[in-house]
Amino acid sequence: MRLCWNSPVLTIINPATEEQIARLERAGIDETDAAIAAAKGAFPAWRAVAPADRARLLRRLANLVEEHGEELARIESRNVGKPITGARGEVAMVASVFHFYAGAVETHRGATIPVAGGEALTFHEPLGVVGLIVPWNFPLNIASWKLGPALACGNTVVLKPAELTPLSALRLAELVLEAGIPEGVVNVVVGQGSVVGQRLVEHPDVAKIGFTGSTEVGRQVMAGAAATAKRVTLELGGKSANVVFADADLERAAAAAPYAVFDNAGQDCCARSRILVERSAYDRFLDLLVAATGRVRVGDPEEDATEMGPLISAAHRETVASFVEGEVRFEGETPDGAGFWFPCTIVEARNDDRIAREEVFGPVVAVIPFDDEADAIRLANETPYGLSGSIWTRDGARALRVARAVESGALSVNSNSSVRVTTPFGGFKQSGFGRELGLEALSGYSDVKSVYISTEG
Ligand code: NAD
Repeated sequence: MRLCWNSPVLTIINPATEEQIARLERAGIDETDAAIAAAKGAFPAWRAVAPADRARLLRRLANLVEEHGEELARIESRNVGKPITGARGEVAMVASVFHFYAGAVETHRGATIPVAGGEALTFHEPLGVVGLIVPWNFPLNIASWKLGPALACGNTVVLKPAELTPLSALRLAELVLEAGIPEGVVNVVVGQGSVVGQRLVEHPDVAKIGFTGSTEVGRQVMAGAAATAKRVTLELGGKSANVVFADADLERAAAAAPYAVFDNAGQDCCARSRILVERSAYDRFLDLLVAATGRVRVGDPEEDATEMGPLISAAHRETVASFVEGEVRFEGETPDGAGFWFPCTIVEARNDDRIAREEVFGPVVAVIPFDDEADAIRLANETPYGLSGSIWTRDGARALRVARAVESGALSVNSNSSVRVTTPFGGFKQSGFGRELGLEALSGYSDVKSVYISTEG
């Protein structure tokens, strides 16, 4: 592992207190190139590690993440401002991700294909050096979704965390070495997206970019990768719909809905930030939603009982505030004093209002009525995004019909939970392409090679 920084100094802030918690030096082009060279140098030996040994090393890393779970959760909570209970859950998922891909190493097999005159075999070959670019909302979690399959397939990596939240990735890099994964296999470079990120995208020795972030930057990554025909996986923004039919268990749907959009202070690509409600149940549901939202505990992220913390930065708070207009039905409480706080906010809206079209990435939800099933599907799909979403109904056939009709990569029925270690996750439409998690992620970090062996003569 190499930690590559250069001046000027990067100041890391706790968003809940606005206090400085670390000072790092920013990496530039030279440090990025050095990290790529280190990863390239480490690649031949890493790909040659026997699968069972690679699995053992990943398993050791998973165990170390578990052993250091509380420490990592505290780092993440202070750096992102996320409630400690949520951060603990995310770190537990990081360990599960490494356990899962440790188990996946030996299942990633090729095939034999019947052909005339001989045999054809396929191999899943690693790509080489992969660049992993991650956002600030779930820093360690999202890094692990890429690191797990990338390392399992035998690639070496350069990981670029978001500038605002590099601390957990730096600590993980130390645990990687402690696990016995050789120096140079995982390189963390802390720096600006437009410098370090762009260099990774353009560098000819980087074979693939695994990117999670905004749709706008994702487009730049895709365009930049074209020059070297790099593979890209893009996990981008969302504007997911939580569709509530009148026949649903309204109490359950309303009790769950706040956590589907205010969790992580709404800074979640899967946030169900449009709640579509069948007109005949609209007033009742809205009353229940307002009551449930009033119970969300907003406050000190270090307290176990806290459910929502602050936003990531003052600048982001300005952006989020700019979305609140029209019929504001509810605005919650926030702590006084320091911290980038923003209240849980419920707005009654139309699907063509800005708040319903654009990703807010804050604790602001748009509630929109619909007339019937066809109208619900039309509204749910009337967005350039297609990442996630929920369907609440007691009618099983309708649940399946709507789930098939909604243009989205990860849906849930009578639940708002659609991200799991073992199931594929990714977007439709402008929410990106490629899949993370599950066994599907392995295909994003390997190329299939076909070898024909003649048996004639
Ligand atoms: P962002 O796009 O601003 O930044 C993401 C990463 O890209 C950061 O590390 C950043 O430094 C880097 N970057 C910026 N400019 C770059 C460039 N020109 N070349 C290469 N890299 C560059 O996103 P953000 O503000 O950190 O995160 C919020 C966004 O991420 C939201 O849109 C959210 O929906 C999305 N997101 C998507 C998923 C998903 O799985 N689909 C998950 C989490 C977040």
